[in-house]
Amino acid sequence: MKRLGLMIGLMVCGLVSGQYFEPLPMDPDPVSVTSGTSGNTSDTPRASVDQTPRAEVYNPTALVPANQTRVAVLGYHNFSNSKPVTEMLMRTTEFREQMETIRKLQLRVISMQEFLAWRQGRLRLPARCVLITMDDGWKSVYTDAFPILQEYGYPFTLFLYTKYLSGRGDSMTPAMIREMQKYGASIGSHSTSHYYPSRWKHAEAQGEDFFKAFMDVEMGDSQKKLSELFGAINTYCYPGGFVTQAMVENLPSYGYTAAFTVIPGKVGADEDMLRIHRYMVFGTDSSIFRRAVNFDRRNDAEPTQAKRNSSSLPPFPVYPAPGSRGNEDLEQISAQLGTIEKLDIRSIQMRVSGFGRVPAQVDPTTQAVKWNLPMRVYMPALTVQLSWKTTDGKQTTTQWSFDIAPATQSTQP
Ligand SMILES: [Zn+2]
Repeated sequence: MKRLGLMIGLMVCGLVSGQYFEPLPMDPDPVSVTSGTSGNTSDTPRASVDQTPRAEVYNPTALVPANQTRVAVLGYHNFSNSKPVTEMLMRTTEFREQMETIRKLQLRVISMQEFLAWRQGRLRLPARCVLITMDDGWKSVYTDAFPILQEYGYPFTLFLYTKYLSGRGDSMTPAMIREMQKYGASIGSHSTSHYYPSRWKHAEAQGEDFFKAFMDVEMGDSQKKLSELFGAINTYCYPGGFVTQAMVENLPSYGYTAAFTVIPGKVGADEDMLRIHRYMVFGTDSSIFRRAVNFDRRNDAEPTQAKRNSSSLPPFPVYPAPGSRGNEDLEQISAQLGTIEKLDIRSIQMRVSGFGRVPAQVDPTTQAVKWNLPMRVYMPALTVQLSWKTTDGKQTTTQWSFDIAPATQSTQP
């Protein structure tokens, strides 16, 4: 599995106004060739599949052996048609377009129960499936997304944290959630307090006993509380995507059988069920959704080194270094342009994948450029593009990429 490659590809795609690199030539997708055998003896009821003839031979309803199914797990947060769009807030109209795209592509939207049953070998599914998840418990899930999901008949999962269930502010009430449960919503835990990764790290640094007590509250108590409110809870979603080995080892003791990350990638039959890949669909970057619903294996491939280097690498020191890994605590991106002669420092522009143009600061003496990240990066990799002019009018653009996630992320089974 070239998951790391997928991440890199995702980030590269996200850089320049959604342009994709051309896919690599690879073997045809083996699961897309299902010549005419319907095999559709499903005992699951959802059959609202568009029968529009398509050029491909993919049969969207044929049930396949478990190891031929791949699932794109989508993660959403908040919706509005008027508030400013952010990574965590999407236009409601765009959400509707995405649901329509799923229908047109004839992807099967499965419930969490179906997802778990497939992984336990109790249910066969089509080769290409989508699992829709929504984090935190924003009221707009009820007001904006729910009517659309109902209209399309798509099941979905809500990952809730128990301190955000008051109905105050932008949060949902338990009554709203129960109403959605009647229409296909599954409930999972998103902890008790939704602490940021720094708080988790700090707690873990206090020692084993302290961290166990911390997990008892954040993972254990939320499971109990949500079970009381909404029925048995057995799925978990890591706040901020932060996960450590100790968390993975303790999750089953709180009753969880599956846990979701923010690392993008298709989920197959060999997925580690306590580190499940998930595409966080940002309101600011539609390329993530396009990649998530693209099941062509060629687009899962890692861009070759030549592709990654196809635009010129910076001719000066940069941080993090091109191609480096394990930048998960990244706080600053910087470049030392001191060797560039006749530099017009006012012309310097830095763009970062997922962020767009960023307010980088330039030291006029050393010609060093730096940008402090405003938040922890959930993306597994970043691409930085730096452009500048010299006083003779010549413009130059350079770019480099590096991985955020530790190298071990790519070798998870
Ligand atoms: Zn969250």
